[in-house]
Amino acid sequence: MLKFQIFLASLIKTIVSAAKSKSAVLGKKVDFVIATNLALLDDTALGFCKANEILLSTSLDGPADLHNKNRPRPGGNSYELAVSGIRRAQEALGPDRVGALMTTTEASLDRVDEIIEEYLKLGLDGIFLRPLSPFGFAIKTKQYQRYDARSWLEFYKRGLRRILDINHQGTPFREFYSSLILTRMLTDKPIGYVDLRSPAGVGIGALLYNYDGSVFASDEGRMLAETGDNAFRLGHVDEDNYRSLVLSDRLVDAISTSLTQCAPEWSTCVFESHCGANPVHHHATQGDALGIKHSLIFVRGRRE
Ligand code: SF4
Repeated sequence: MLKFQIFLASLIKTIVSAAKSKSAVLGKKVDFVIATNLALLDDTALGFCKANEILLSTSLDGPADLHNKNRPRPGGNSYELAVSGIRRAQEALGPDRVGALMTTTEASLDRVDEIIEEYLKLGLDGIFLRPLSPFGFAIKTKQYQRYDARSWLEFYKRGLRRILDINHQGTPFREFYSSLILTRMLTDKPIGYVDLRSPAGVGIGALLYNYDGSVFASDEGRMLAETGDNAFRLGHVDEDNYRSLVLSDRLVDAISTSLTQCAPEWSTCVFESHCGANPVHHHATQGDALGIKHSLIFVRGRRE
């Protein structure tokens, strides 16, 4: 564990230092976010994050029993580690320098109020209510099939009502997905959300460099590869450069199917100008990067 910790620290330092020197030459602004379960958090890591203005992002699924059930680890203390890590990071870096993401499993469906309460207790300024995605662990554990679109929407609506009440009572607290969509619909501000772009943001709005040097069009593409599907693996750092990655046939094919303006059934949708496509999702659920759009809910819902 110690060896791994030292390797990880040195890898992160190398990445931060290389990105900073390259961005200085190119005149680019770089932001760093480390996604972590906070289990390896110590004063040295926090000092490095503070010195380099690095944000931390972790996972928090709700109250202790729910979080520990969703994220089992030896000792059954993943909740305690997450909460103490969030508090420690907030103290060291500032309350707005650490964020959390939640995953909705079947066990979460009746507990949206308690989940939101956990986020409020920790002084977090909002929550991103997210359904399970059809990739990686959710597929391996068969969690993805355990609830349908209707159950998810009920959960989401209850959560949104609770969040509106919290705001009406005077505490500013956001549901980040609604904020993204409303910003997209009601303003001309760019939202930078790769899943809601046309053409899709995979590869051109994000690239995922894996620890083994493989490069994927998105994190979802990497998760697909974990289950043996390399459809969105674009290349390898030893063999490719940025140009060959973004101009690879694989990426160009996927992106060319993702224009909502010309996709059957989307081009005539009243919300089309606010919408976007994620070919990785379509590929995972329908085996086709374009997909039959109105089937998404049926594929996801299974029983509807
Ligand atoms: S049908 Fe749904 S996903 Fe397709 S453009 Fe309209 S709102 Fe977006």
